[in-house]
Amino acid sequence: MGCLPFVWLMVRTMDWKANEELIAWGNEHLGAIPIDGIWSPDGSGVQYKKTDVNEWSLIFMYNHPTSKEQHEKFKHLMEACGYDVLEGDGVQEVVPPLDPQLHMQEEYERKQSVAQGWACPECEYPLANSELDMRLDEYVEDTEIELSNGEHTQIELWRCLINCGGCGAVIPMEPDDYHLLAGDEYFMRWNSNGYKYSALTRGDMKDLADAGIQTGTVLGSTHEGERVPPWMWGIYAIKTKLFERSEEE
Ligand SMILES: [Zn+2]
Repeated sequence: MGCLPFVWLMVRTMDWKANEELIAWGNEHLGAIPIDGIWSPDGSGVQYKKTDVNEWSLIFMYNHPTSKEQHEKFKHLMEACGYDVLEGDGVQEVVPPLDPQLHMQEEYERKQSVAQGWACPECEYPLANSELDMRLDEYVEDTEIELSNGEHTQIELWRCLINCGGCGAVIPMEPDDYHLLAGDEYFMRWNSNGYKYSALTRGDMKDLADAGIQTGTVLGSTHEGERVPPWMWGIYAIKTKLFERSEEE
């Protein structure tokens, strides 16, 4: 799913040569992607599909000099890892839009459609068909990151756990990946101690305020003794019993 950002940074900035470290990374991560899986390194404007155990095919590329340059590097890396790289007629070449907002929108939609094809690594069941609303969020650790102005800041790393709808395996995902797969509404919910905290849309909040109903909770970094995932901090949420829906049935 997500590609390790530090490796991507290396690919992007290093004086290009696939060194041992990158090849080791490639063997592990490219090898772990199942046949028909898609690899789309962030911000590169290229996308590959694993078309056989030892074969990757370029399926998408921006008509942009940087994308072509990136492709040459990725191709080099894949070949160094023992893969054949196909660049056949099936490649979709797209001129990136000049409007940066439209560009981001299109990139996001492209990633979303890739996420819809993710399969369980155990049984290949399509993850998009699993019960995505029954997600559990797990705190991993604190880590320090460097900001664009050179300063360092502490952030919390979290992961989202879902159950495969096919075999029941617990699938850990990066929160961004879960967000791509499940969409805004599910992402902006937090299940804790048998309760569900759901963020409201602005329209919903307005309707409730107009009706004089203000029973929501603003979530902090902890709530009732539990850590709250960072993307829910400062959110006005409505608390409901987690299993209310199934009790009604
Ligand atoms: Zn499964």
